[in-house]
Amino acid sequence: MSTALVIAEHDGTELNQATARTLTGVAPLGAADIAVLAKGGADVCAQAAALAGVGKVLHVDNEASEHQLAAALAPQIAELAASYAVIAFPSTTFGKDLAPRVAALLDVHQVSDVMDVIDAKNFQRPIYAGNVIVKENTDGYDKAVLTIRSASFQAAVNGDSAAPVEAVSVSAEIPGHTRFKSLKAQKSERPDLQSAAWVVSGGRGVGSKEKFSIIYTLADKLGAGCGASRAAVDAGYCPNDMQVGQTGKIIAPDVYFALGISGAIQHITGIKDAGTIVAINKDSEAPIFEVADIGMVGDLFEIAPKLGEALQK
Ligand SMILES: Cc1cc2nc3c(=O)[nH]c(=O)nc-3n(C[C@H](O)[C@H](O)[C@H](O)COP(=O)(O)OP(=O)(O)OC[C@H]3O[C@@H](n4cnc5c(N)ncnc54)[C@H](O)[C@@H]3O)c2cc1C
Repeated sequence: MSTALVIAEHDGTELNQATARTLTGVAPLGAADIAVLAKGGADVCAQAAALAGVGKVLHVDNEASEHQLAAALAPQIAELAASYAVIAFPSTTFGKDLAPRVAALLDVHQVSDVMDVIDAKNFQRPIYAGNVIVKENTDGYDKAVLTIRSASFQAAVNGDSAAPVEAVSVSAEIPGHTRFKSLKAQKSERPDLQSAAWVVSGGRGVGSKEKFSIIYTLADKLGAGCGASRAAVDAGYCPNDMQVGQTGKIIAPDVYFALGISGAIQHITGIKDAGTIVAINKDSEAPIFEVADIGMVGDLFEIAPKLGEALQK
């Protein structure tokens, strides 16, 4: 029996990469089981079973899980949790919505944004925008509910053989107070911000919503995802699902381009695990240059097009 149960994030057919990162996060506890709650979901189970480090996949095929509503999933997960010491979610919007409900149903402590699993009761996580790392323990509780900081872990790769998939049924009562009405999602052809290998982000220095096209153009040339600082989002230059940072998305791309971003600590906390940080800023004293691997001082409107062409070559 595994110590940890990882809750799979998926869209009904594809397993989100954050699940594979969560699996790596709890790897110190040994092979983990993965729960796939879906209507159908056989493809997702096969993808989860293929990952190295999986004990078994628990497949809960339930009509109520079709739209992945946290209110519908939480009681099912609380029932599955009975035989596990650790229940782990990715620290994505999905996990952040779901984990507290599960913790409340189990009446246990939740530890958020875990960046190191020491054992089943001791975990490390950042506070104060990543300036302090604290150790939290869950002594006094028989279980720990965690969100795992996806950006801190590499995604688990496929193993040599697939783990078994076990069909499980749950008897948990699904509350009727939350019902699916419709889904309105930003449609984008660009790579997902949280799993893109390269990300191009713009800040307040870009200047306007119209001028933000320079960010999209560079990203499209490079096949990159698009991000933004909070100041750019607040100014209405771009949608808020692009926000990177403490109150936005925590990301760990191989290469991160920061254009017209000053480098406030709340922004840096969202990119500190990026492989290479490239900054363009006209102020040579901007704090972003303290963390950048490659810094270019100058006007982003002059540099970005040239950079795009050079990198495309
Ligand atoms: C509780 C809290 C949470 C927060 N969470 C977040 C968060 O999640 N993410 C986040 O980003 N911020 C967050 N912030 C806000 C953060 O403190 C900064 O205000 C914000 O990151 C600044 O955004 P910016 O760098 O785009 O803007 P600015 O600080 O205004 O910087 C703009 C930069 O653009 C440069 N520039 C201007 N024109 C050009 C040009 N033509 N070419 C090149 N460079 C140019 C300037 O030199 C400047 O450095 C948070 C703040 C608080 C208090």
